[in-house]
Amino acid sequence: MLDADFFRRWVAATAASVDREAERLTALDSAIGDADHGSNMQRGFKAVTAALEKEAPETPGAILMLAGRQLISTVGGASGPLYGTLLRRTGKALGDAAEVTEAQLAEALRAGVEGVMVLGGAAPGDKTMVDALVPAVDALGDGFAAARTAAEEGALATVPLQARKGRASYLGERSIGHQDPGATSSALLIAGLAEASGE
Ligand code: ADP
Ligand code: MG
Ligand code: MG
Repeated sequence: MLDADFFRRWVAATAASVDREAERLTALDSAIGDADHGSNMQRGFKAVTAALEKEAPETPGAILMLAGRQLISTVGGASGPLYGTLLRRTGKALGDAAEVTEAQLAEALRAGVEGVMVLGGAAPGDKTMVDALVPAVDALGDGFAAARTAAEEGALATVPLQARKGRASYLGERSIGHQDPGATSSALLIAGLAEASGE
């Protein structure tokens, strides 16, 4: 069973890797965007960490909903509302249970990713965070480590794609040949899950 501590570890692991990788995320965004993805994510997860400390939510669902709200209110940029929706929808789907199963988390994350796709209008292959998140959710039935690998492969697979959503789409064919920054940060989020689980 996955308890509130598991979800706190997930958020903390993601905040730490976002900090470590912020320059890389910004460098990726400087190639096909506006060079702020690393700082956007850093600002967002810093606010999430502070809010979790201050409000001390006690259930998995409440932790993710608070995290999502913080991302929406602190990340200026497309990724804030998208990641915020991902975590809020996932948290909402978990309800107020004190502990959830891996299968319940997989189902909840599926709802979260669907929320991202509705909000942003992106499908797999559009060179966005969806290209890491959908394969990760599909692989979650095989465990957290499998989801991490699927997300990393999904992020790498954005390199040859032409962006059809977000700022990178303004570049048209010139977006080809670069890894999508949001798919890259999504792989960090999923790697955080594997880290929290010890897999
Ligand atoms: P901004 O583009 O507003 O500066 P960020 O740089 O923080 O925002 O985030 C850019 C990332 O957001 C992209 O790399 C992409 O993965 C993701 N993104 C942008 N638009 C969409 C969308 N409509 N649907 C899904 N993901 C999107
Ligand atoms: Mg940007
Ligand atoms: Mg921006």
